[in-house]
Amino acid sequence: MGPVSDLVDHSSSWRRLLAVLPADVLIADELDTVVHARVEGGTSIDDGEDLIGRSLDDALPEWRDDGTNDRRDDVLFLTLALEGRTWTVAAFVGAGDGIRGRRERIEMQFRAAQVLAESEERFRHSFADNMAPMMFTDLENRITEVNTAFCRMIGRSREELLGSDSSEFTFPEDLGISESTHRRMTTDDVGQLRYVKRYLHKDGRVIVVEISKSTARDAEGNILYFVISERDITEERALSAQLAHQSLHDPLTGLANRAVFEDRLTQAQARLARRPGLAAVLLLDLDDFKAVNDAHGHVVSDHVIVTIAHRLEEVTRSSDTLCRLSGDEFLYLAEGLTSEDEAEQLALRLLEVFTQPIAVPGAQLEVHASAGVVVWDGATEGFQRVIQHADSAMYEAKRRGKGHYFLYTPDLEQQSVSRFALAQELRHALHAGELSMYYQPILDLASGEVTGFEALMRWRHPERGFVPPNVFIPLAEQSELILELGAFALRESVREASTWPAMGTLGAPFVTVNLSSRQFHDPELIKLIAESLATHHLAPERLVVEITESVTLLDVAETLSVLEQLQRRNVAVALDDFGTGYSSLSYLALLRPAILKIDRSFVSPPQKSDHNDTLLQMIVSLGQRLRMTVLAEGVETAEQLARLQALGCDLAQGFLFSPAVAAPEVARTREQVLG
Ligand code: C2E
Ligand code: CA
Ligand code: CA
Repeated sequence: MGPVSDLVDHSSSWRRLLAVLPADVLIADELDTVVHARVEGGTSIDDGEDLIGRSLDDALPEWRDDGTNDRRDDVLFLTLALEGRTWTVAAFVGAGDGIRGRRERIEMQFRAAQVLAESEERFRHSFADNMAPMMFTDLENRITEVNTAFCRMIGRSREELLGSDSSEFTFPEDLGISESTHRRMTTDDVGQLRYVKRYLHKDGRVIVVEISKSTARDAEGNILYFVISERDITEERALSAQLAHQSLHDPLTGLANRAVFEDRLTQAQARLARRPGLAAVLLLDLDDFKAVNDAHGHVVSDHVIVTIAHRLEEVTRSSDTLCRLSGDEFLYLAEGLTSEDEAEQLALRLLEVFTQPIAVPGAQLEVHASAGVVVWDGATEGFQRVIQHADSAMYEAKRRGKGHYFLYTPDLEQQSVSRFALAQELRHALHAGELSMYYQPILDLASGEVTGFEALMRWRHPERGFVPPNVFIPLAEQSELILELGAFALRESVREASTWPAMGTLGAPFVTVNLSSRQFHDPELIKLIAESLATHHLAPERLVVEITESVTLLDVAETLSVLEQLQRRNVAVALDDFGTGYSSLSYLALLRPAILKIDRSFVSPPQKSDHNDTLLQMIVSLGQRLRMTVLAEGVETAEQLARLQALGCDLAQGFLFSPAVAAPEVARTREQVLG
């Protein structure tokens, strides 16, 4: 073993110390038993082997038995404290002249050697017991000594390691690192290096270590050995990699996050500046996702998000960027487009990804999304604005009935800026009495009499005037606020309807109240309805709730159970906006509403067409076959009314008869329409 091993080997350190003394020595322990002896200028302190094991008093006369009597005068006795023990050292000074000078010289050398031994001992402790893994290697890079921390770190014993080189436990790909650092230190005369390398633990784990390697040299500068101190940075590395990943990725889906997306947008803008073309930014937002969360809890809704994320990832081109913006919002950047049309095709493709059913425990969820699409030439605005525009377009898509995309146009801007402020104001509106219910008459086409009213909410804003429900209802649906608004609509409508007397041949009119999907799935709904009816003594037959197909997006089983409870209480259900939904026919058969409300787009289409008329005809006859009451909404012209009557439609409402009116005008409106 080399010099380093001597340092580590406990028994040898003080032997080395004594070996340097320029005298023969006897060393005895606390019991005065001789443990080492060097005789007659020998080269080893164990030369006098026959003296070892005997008592000091016994051994001393024999040690220098050249016939002279008292040898004690020639011997210097010293005390050595090492390793917590006390040793007696007898050093032979020799007889004759100059004995005094020799004594002093020996004593001085002994003290110097002892100081050295102590520092070596400190070093040995700091090495062997060091928390940091350490090792020494020789010029061939073989391990001459390792400490416990090192052995523990790589799961190998000291015996296994001694004499081997680190290649035996170095991660194969990192073998070159050991070689090149060794070369640099031996031939390029680099005194100290710090580098990172991977090891293989005996159990197969890969560990990452930071290594500080330095050289120990002799007085001439020749390398004697290498001192290597290491630090296990495996966990540190994993954590920082994770943090780096996290700062760029969404933890739930693993998709890039907004920061990455913004970076890509900036790059895209730079590219567009160099080479003109088009990019598209799409903001995709799940419809009624809050209701999914409310109905199924966050585990299921997380699953939905993750599923959608993976599906989107599958259709994302490598040159495009997909990120999760927040909760149920995704952003998509497509580069290298040549037309607006391409952006629209992309929007359709991405929206389709959402519509495939998602299996969750006990249900097949069908979700939909709306998309805001911005076609961007990179010229005019910064990326923040682009995302904002996509957001405005997305809200416009929602406002127009969800499940679709909307292409951004500059005039949307105005509305989107004020949306946030509006949401804040809406919270106060209810308590400030700014909200009220208006009522639009529903006519029975056979008799021409008013048979009911649809309750529609109105917000009279102190400065903005009337804010349309198409603006504020979707805002409220973003939060719990919709539940408050919905409860207000129900109570207020029931209270108002309870004041309507019977007139004509049909009895007292019914009131229809719109329920948003979220409200429909609110566990308090049935109680709220029952309480409202009871408080105002309204017969349940005079209340109709209007729902859209979006209520079934959540959970068909739960939807059916709510419907059943309503039915048991004799509260009828109207399916609103029929024909605009996603899978109208299957849901119609499933929900079996009492009333089918044909969407305005079929009743009063922007352009008259045979195709549209055929659709209208089919919808009416479908309702009839399913024995539902068919109600046409948005009737604006006498021609439209005549057509509906010819088709045998039961009920109708629309501007032709009357818009929604404030409560005090309900009675007068009834008489007017009747007359
Ligand atoms: P909706 O349930 O489809 O209501 C019918 C909408 O069509 C009403 O708009 C009504 O004023 C309008 N309308 C009626 N007749 C005609 C017509 O002949 N031509 C045209 N072009 N429109 C007509 P409004 O009041 O602006 O409400 C818009 C939407 O806001 C409603 O659509 C409904 O989805 C929602 N909404 C209104 N009040 C409530 C409410 O109390 N609760 C909930 N959850 N939603 C509400
Ligand atoms: Ca309605
Ligand atoms: Ca409607």
